[in-house]
Amino acid sequence: MWNTEMEHPKTEQDLVAILSLTDSEEIEKLYKAARTLTEEIVGEKVHFRGIIEFSNICAKDCYYCGIRKSNTNVERYTIPDNAVIEAAKWAWKAGYGSIVMQSGEIESDAFTNKITDLLNAIAKETNGELGITLSLGEQSYETYKAWFDAGAKRYLLRIETTNRELYKTLHPADHSFDVRINALKNLRKAGYQVGTGVMIGLPGQSVEMLARDIIFFKEMDIDMIGMGPYIPHHQTPLADSMPDFEKIKERQFQKGLIMIAATRLFLRDINIAASTALQTLNNIGRELGIMAGANIIMPNITATEYRSSYQLYDNKPCLSDTSSMCHHCMEMRLSAYGVEIGLNEHGDSKHYAKRQ
Ligand code: SF4
Repeated sequence: MWNTEMEHPKTEQDLVAILSLTDSEEIEKLYKAARTLTEEIVGEKVHFRGIIEFSNICAKDCYYCGIRKSNTNVERYTIPDNAVIEAAKWAWKAGYGSIVMQSGEIESDAFTNKITDLLNAIAKETNGELGITLSLGEQSYETYKAWFDAGAKRYLLRIETTNRELYKTLHPADHSFDVRINALKNLRKAGYQVGTGVMIGLPGQSVEMLARDIIFFKEMDIDMIGMGPYIPHHQTPLADSMPDFEKIKERQFQKGLIMIAATRLFLRDINIAASTALQTLNNIGRELGIMAGANIIMPNITATEYRSSYQLYDNKPCLSDTSSMCHHCMEMRLSAYGVEIGLNEHGDSKHYAKRQ
């Protein structure tokens, strides 16, 4: 039952109560409280991070992921460096304060050097004005530091779930939970604004586990959250993990929004992205994510020809769109909700700024 105390959750029990809400009127009150708090603390504007999915080559084999190395049905690609730089320049000229560079996970000296060179080139071509977030998986501390020194200031590494047993059901035995936690600590040590996140509505996941995920975000002093509802991919070992997915889609979407709102009310001044996965489940999913407490949108600025080969889950939207189409579409969608876009601003996490 919704009550005003839920607007100020302080304990795991408070979070469990929020995450267990099912009454639609109470859930609307939750979203409203989260949006109001976002406007008060973070501001009314939404900031864009143009995402460039520059390679779908990955050395890992996460059971839920459509680009896992064992999926031989995927056409593998790496966008040439000059095209990545052009995409970054396009974002800068379009007024995006930041981009996200994302790919599968590769650990090698050649990959480290390639990213360092790209970061230097992008800084040169954009007068050092473009904020850069990396999302390139687990790397050594030295690699994280080299990329930070070359200009990347934020890093997103999703933990996916903080429950060790559930983690094991999502990953092969050689994907270590402890290594991932350590990577998050190394990112903080290297100086980044650190982002993480989880999948919501996984098979076997309880509201108590999700509540503990939010507690984990707080304990790790996380600056940014990128999380979304779990959507199965048909070419993975978990393809049949939710045979009735079509029937539960709506609740899965709702769980995603409730988790955003609960995270906002508990962590207050962090950045939270309204993920593309929300739009996969609901045509206005990202807008509703903003109205439930998110404040970041990541329009896809990957060249159209590569988009269909970067699908971590099924039915990802906007695959045939261009960067301009995604930009104008998001502008129109947000203005319909009276939401202003913070152009030419980095939109750094207020939480991070406070820690400085
Ligand atoms: S989730 Fe990330 S690390 Fe895992 S297989 Fe997919 S791209 Fe690779």
